[in-house]
Amino acid sequence: MTFQELGLMEPILKALAELGYEKPSPIQEKAISPALSGRDVLGCAQTGTGKTCAFAAPILQRLSAGHPAGRPIRSLILTPTRELALQIQESFEAYGKHLPLRSAVIFGGVGQQPQVDKLKKGVDILVATPGRLLDLQGQGYVDLSRLEIFVLDEADRMLDMGFIHDVRRVLKLLPAVKQTLFFSATMPPEVMELVDGLLHDPVKVAVDPISSPVEVIDQSVYLVDKGNKTRLLSYLVEKLNVKNAIVFTRTKHGANKVAADLQKAGITAAAIHGNKSQTARQQALSDFKAGKVKCLVATDIAARGLDIEELSHVFNYNLPEVSETYVHRIGRTGRAGHGGTAVSFCDFGEKPYLKDIEKLIGRKVPLVEDHPWPMEIFEAPKDAKGRPVNADDAEARQAARERRRERAAAAREERKPRQSPPVPAPVPPEDAGQSPKKKRRRRKDSGESGAQPVPIQPASPAAGESAKKGRRGVRQQHLEDTMPTAPSQPSSDFYKPNPLDGDVILDATARLLAPRKGPAPEHGQGAKRKKHASATQSEHTRREQGRHGQEKREQKAPEKQGEGKKREDHKRERGRSRGRRGGAPEVVLRSGSQKDSTEQPSLIKPYYLTPDD
Ligand code: AMP
Repeated sequence: MTFQELGLMEPILKALAELGYEKPSPIQEKAISPALSGRDVLGCAQTGTGKTCAFAAPILQRLSAGHPAGRPIRSLILTPTRELALQIQESFEAYGKHLPLRSAVIFGGVGQQPQVDKLKKGVDILVATPGRLLDLQGQGYVDLSRLEIFVLDEADRMLDMGFIHDVRRVLKLLPAVKQTLFFSATMPPEVMELVDGLLHDPVKVAVDPISSPVEVIDQSVYLVDKGNKTRLLSYLVEKLNVKNAIVFTRTKHGANKVAADLQKAGITAAAIHGNKSQTARQQALSDFKAGKVKCLVATDIAARGLDIEELSHVFNYNLPEVSETYVHRIGRTGRAGHGGTAVSFCDFGEKPYLKDIEKLIGRKVPLVEDHPWPMEIFEAPKDAKGRPVNADDAEARQAARERRRERAAAAREERKPRQSPPVPAPVPPEDAGQSPKKKRRRRKDSGESGAQPVPIQPASPAAGESAKKGRRGVRQQHLEDTMPTAPSQPSSDFYKPNPLDGDVILDATARLLAPRKGPAPEHGQGAKRKKHASATQSEHTRREQGRHGQEKREQKAPEKQGEGKKREDHKRERGRSRGRRGGAPEVVLRSGSQKDSTEQPSLIKPYYLTPDD
């Protein structure tokens, strides 16, 4: 079958040909025609099967049939991860290259203004992750009331990542009459519930059940102790002539550590996980795609949906607890029918996971016994009370504790000079032993001003700073400290990352909980003084940082302004009440000890549609 036979229009056929697509993939063969005719589609397919084109091509064709006034959003593609959202929008751009349709992508973890600017210009097709979509819709920038085609992508993943409530909230914003294209790699009961409520007489298309990569990928497992895994990895990267590989780790801490250790061993590597900023993740990904980085060390959630062509190897540095994840992972190297190599490391504690994986894929993963670091520890790690523990989780928790301790110590250190009294000028020898009165008289006599400081040579830059503070007065210094600093400078009062410019991904909730710059609330005299400073700071912050907000308010329709104000008041009120209850609000960051959602046991019981379903 050809794309032409599927009924696609010339501009799309031209774009597909330019991309080198010679013939439709199975999901495209099955889904494009019904979608073109306006039918709802239930697609059981995972990323890598060509499903983006299966929904994007019909959407582009249907939308180019008419151009309603006002350029409303006519198609929404809801997808769980930022990377996937970006890739989908890029695909729309590529497939729609010869059509006058506009698309935009919105996702969290980056500033909203560029996204808002795009929305204001009008877009036909919007690709979005649920959190940012609801955020911008709540602010009045997204109107979905004229939507014609809705795509829910990776529905099972939405569920897995805890986005299901957000998805339901988005569904309520959509018009009742619309075409829905629904894709999920697995169809657990919760997904089927969504399907039942959303789709009308859908055409069911299913391709390659999830276990298909198992057939084409060269798999092997090495039994190796946890402490020797990085050595073995470096050794294999050289020995197996690895061109480019994704290395999967269990924790974000693990990803950082493995990447750093590989770098030390002279292998270019970058870590990619949920605590990295979107910019850092994109940079790592583009360096990897450009061949500047050989190993991308990733947690499952970060690697989900990454479209990397010709990935030569996948390494499972840690075996996943959820066996399906193993298939997802190794599938990265077997895209679009290409074979690849998947190498897994298994320490003693991970043996049960290996057993589960082999059960799921229905075959033994070939064991490589001849390697320089054979397993020597035949005992699962236990905690102090003798209970079995996961050593990687324990290590990540310990690292998180150390980081917290370091931050607290640094914060204490930082606060010290401000709280200490001004450094007294050294007493000249002739003053020693004289009463203060006599000293004053003596200075007056000799023409010295009492306020004149005696120069002090600071022992260190910090000491010099503290001396300066002493001279200018604690109060003045405090006011300066509480003033907003340039975005690149971290607030000196808290050793916490600035949520707006740091190497940290924050969702909307975390942003609300992020600390306002300024000292922790205190009681008593100090508190009163600081309250004033803090008020000055808030005012200043509002003035300085509120330019975007101002613009936004100006752009909003008059009736929206009232709503926006209520929202802001509500946020401010929430912030205050937190401050009252527990001192300075904590930045809610996912610590290294917490797991990515895909690293937690899945609630999903896989159920695969067969083509006859
Ligand atoms: P997807 O499942 O949509 O993420 O697609 C996986 C990869 O397959 C992407 O790199 C697409 O560009 C590529 N692809 C999709 N359809 C085709 C096709 N018909 N022929 C060749 N490559 C394709």
